[in-house]
Amino acid sequence: MTAKIDLENCQTCPICHVAIAPDDTVYFASGNPGSRARLYARVCQYAKKPECINKDTNAIGPLSKADGFSTGAEIAKLLKAS
Ligand SMILES: [Zn+2]
Repeated sequence: MTAKIDLENCQTCPICHVAIAPDDTVYFASGNPGSRARLYARVCQYAKKPECINKDTNAIGPLSKADGFSTGAEIAKLLKAS
């Protein structure tokens, strides 16, 4: 079952190639739709390109572990502990 995606109303990031719907649902090339935070955690924070459309931290909101990768601070903590 696939939800119909109205791509005409989506913004597409030229860098990350994902579509962001007006309700901030993010459609990845594969996998389930996610949030701006998930997109940022998985793609945009690495892309670091000025053309990326998902850089507004207010829109992104707080990142959670479920969004993907750990933050630099968390990785540093893990390295210290090991
Ligand atoms: Zn992007």
